[in-house]
Amino acid sequence: MTKISRRKFLQLTGVSSLAASTFLFGGRKTVEAATTDGAVPLRIRYAKEVPTTCPYCSLGCGSIVHVAGGEVISIAGDPDHPINEGALCSKGASIFNLRRVYDSKTGKSVLNPSRVTEVLYRAPNSDQWKVKNWDWALREIAARVKKARDASFERLDANGVTVNRTTAIAHLGSAALECEENYLMNKLFRAIGGINMCHHARL
Ligand code: SF4
Repeated sequence: MTKISRRKFLQLTGVSSLAASTFLFGGRKTVEAATTDGAVPLRIRYAKEVPTTCPYCSLGCGSIVHVAGGEVISIAGDPDHPINEGALCSKGASIFNLRRVYDSKTGKSVLNPSRVTEVLYRAPNSDQWKVKNWDWALREIAARVKKARDASFERLDANGVTVNRTTAIAHLGSAALECEENYLMNKLFRAIGGINMCHHARL
């Protein structure tokens, strides 16, 4: 019996389904569709595959971002990933829309106009967001962390035990951070005496 890999199986069944729907719904060929006769290639055929992790929840499903001409053209589940083996839930299947959405008039994919691409700052008690640059934001964060840490640092606890900690600052991660980023956050936060760390993926 011929062995077939999961990746090959998904490729073949994907091509068959697309070919079937092309037949059922009028046979119109578009650049989005693949046919078994090879006349219209998959649009991701020459795209570069960039593996990544779904940013939405703690399961950490693997995805493949397809990039062509410096732009994301598709995102799909990674068939070789041990967690999800190619499948994505409805939330994960919409990751592409973080970057691009389909224009309802033209049907073409365009950059998502709701995507936040600048640093936005809302001062305490203000109802206004102001655009800031990254240099300002990083300096401001560093200064506030240092001020809060120095003002709250405890060398000893109530029993005289050395603790070298601050409980005035907490760090909350997200699944959008990958393992390496979480490792660095952990190192940095513990180096300044932080002990209240959490991450919804519990990394
Ligand atoms: S694809 Fe769904 S289940 Fe998997 S990590 Fe993303 S949100 Fe979680």
